[in-house]
Amino acid sequence: MIPFLDLKNINKQYREELINACTRVIDSGWYIGGTELEQFERNFATYCGTQYAIGVANGLDALILTLRAWKELGKLQEGDEVIVPSNTYIASILAISANQLKPILVEPNPDTFNLDPTKIEAVITDRTKVILPVHLYGQLAAMPEIMAIAEKHNLLVLEDSAQSHGAEINGKKAGNWGDASGFSFYPGKNLGALGDAGAITTNDKDLANMLKALRNYGSHEKYKNLVQGVNSRLDEIQAAMLDIKLKYLDQETEHRRKIANIYSLGINNPFIQLPRIDGNVIENQQHVWHLFVIQTSHREALQKYLTENGIQTLIHYPIPPHKQQAYQDWNDLSFPISEQIHTTVLSLPISPVLKLEDAQYIVKICNEFSP
Ligand SMILES: *Cc1c(COP(=O)(O)O)cnc(C)c1O
Repeated sequence: MIPFLDLKNINKQYREELINACTRVIDSGWYIGGTELEQFERNFATYCGTQYAIGVANGLDALILTLRAWKELGKLQEGDEVIVPSNTYIASILAISANQLKPILVEPNPDTFNLDPTKIEAVITDRTKVILPVHLYGQLAAMPEIMAIAEKHNLLVLEDSAQSHGAEINGKKAGNWGDASGFSFYPGKNLGALGDAGAITTNDKDLANMLKALRNYGSHEKYKNLVQGVNSRLDEIQAAMLDIKLKYLDQETEHRRKIANIYSLGINNPFIQLPRIDGNVIENQQHVWHLFVIQTSHREALQKYLTENGIQTLIHYPIPPHKQQAYQDWNDLSFPISEQIHTTVLSLPISPVLKLEDAQYIVKICNEFSP
């Protein structure tokens, strides 16, 4: 079976280095809030091109705490509206609800799966305070257009960069477009820890300071609490693991691009629609291919056929947020583009360790499919 994502082999590449770093941390006797975290935060900020990176416990917390920090800084209040794509992974929306803010769902561009900037202005009201674009599947949302709208209407922008470490437009990376950006380092993400981890990047010093307090009980200084914070910290061990994996991120992304090119050039089947990216798939290399998502109106048959031929696939995601029981009030709302996406998408294997021959085999099998 060609696995969808072979985490064991991904991390095996760096086994020696990871073990050495673990040993260093174990022997240091210092496990939370030390030099490993500082070093990773510095290196990750430099990688993204931002002034600050603040490590937290996971990607969801990165988003929750950023919105929370804006509330503490007086930039947001309960009931304010946050524009978010209707086809996102639910975490983006949970972060809004968790802060008693109101998610306003907007349909994506069906070609890119990302927030459609031409649909944003129609939903802006007096209460709109934030746009939360999600760089889904590894491709940046239309950030030049989104930032222009935000500037015109004086809105904050929080990027959800959980799937797009290193993705860029015009040389500017995910995490450096908005006022702040949430990253996840969940093991399966492009930059993955060996457990849970996340971070916020920003160029705003006040926000960075507030986030550092919020993640640590609301305390900047030991035993002094400015705000009612939480415990959401990135451990020294995970920071050390991430600092090693960060060095190899670009190299891993290059491999993902090779796989994506093999699929894009090779798959030619009228029943399969390839992901379309802005511009040419070969020349436009800003996509970091967290996922390679095809669309087909014969999903069940295709998935079964691929499994029978030894190819594991997954669906990202089978149910749109507005159809989830967790958001019962929205169940009768209609977002036809998202609903169409959720019934047709299928993710092919892609990873830094997927063999090129395996990708070629997957192309051949896909081309032989007929429903
Ligand atoms: C993974 C993910 C998150 C949440 O990250 P965790 O580290 O799992 O909490 C948020 N948004 C998107 C788009 C994601 O893919």
